[in-house]
Amino acid sequence: MQAIVLKELGARLEWTDLADRQPGPGEIRVKVAACGVCRTDLHVVDGELSHPQVPIIPGHEIVGRIDMIGTGVEGLRVGERVGIPWLGHTCGVCPYCRGGQENLCDRPLFTGYTRDGGFATVMIADARYAFPLGEVGDDVALASLLCAGLIGWRSLVIAGEGKKLGLYGFGAAAHIIAQVAKWQGRSVFAFTRPGDIATQTFARGLGAAWAGGSDETPPEPLDSAIIFAVVGDLVPLALKAVRKGGRVVCAGIHMSDIPSFPYRLLWEERQIVSVANLQRQDGLDFLRLAPEIGIVTHTTTYPLNQANQALADLRAGRFEGAAVLVP
Ligand SMILES: [Zn+2]
Ligand SMILES: [Zn+2]
Repeated sequence: MQAIVLKELGARLEWTDLADRQPGPGEIRVKVAACGVCRTDLHVVDGELSHPQVPIIPGHEIVGRIDMIGTGVEGLRVGERVGIPWLGHTCGVCPYCRGGQENLCDRPLFTGYTRDGGFATVMIADARYAFPLGEVGDDVALASLLCAGLIGWRSLVIAGEGKKLGLYGFGAAAHIIAQVAKWQGRSVFAFTRPGDIATQTFARGLGAAWAGGSDETPPEPLDSAIIFAVVGDLVPLALKAVRKGGRVVCAGIHMSDIPSFPYRLLWEERQIVSVANLQRQDGLDFLRLAPEIGIVTHTTTYPLNQANQALADLRAGRFEGAAVLVP
């Protein structure tokens, strides 16, 4: 097998030949067809997450077909198309796992961060964390649903039922969730970097009722807002934009420090919450709905050996939507 390996934090990824791997008990081997590139991959490469491990194969938005099945796996078959997300394994016995909050497991493994991921020709996954994808939709389009889509979906559920939804940071996740929110009959207010007219036009093209800079006040108070950007300064701005009782959801795994702000911005039962990982049920719910909604994902594909370029382009904001690597 070949993989793009992070051997040292902050270094370039290296194309590497590795010995073929076999699935252990409860695992499957997946021949990778497409793997999305996510902002979290930048955090992994930059060593910004709390327990970095190297060497590691990044990548956690994996679409592929099962080509080998380990012992004790039920309900999956060789040749089946599956998706492998960020949360790659949970312990099943900690209080969070037992309490229905497996996304907060005390001993989890994360695909492409603490367990090898999908910037490779094949990868090994915990069969419990493989979502059957069926045959509708192409591999590249589905890849970006697996993190951007899933985390976006969980954030949207946690944002509540409000009709006026703000999205701060209009990249891979927001461009998917804007379509879902519109399909649900909500109005989307898209906030981009100030002056980023191209992304504001992109957001309107996906049905946003309003698009403007993150420093602008929306034309009406929002019921809730989701912050996908990694910028802590957006938290007080979003609090200012939501109505009494409104909720601000921080969807990122990493964010710069939140500046201090006057208590009156939080007053009147406004809430700030974060979203961590996902539960398998989120994945099943979202992936069942996705074909019905007819989500169109805007993707830029790169050959697997161009992973460094894809990461650099993501960092510089050189494309709209999502980047996907194809082996
Ligand atoms: Zn656990
Ligand atoms: Zn991700």
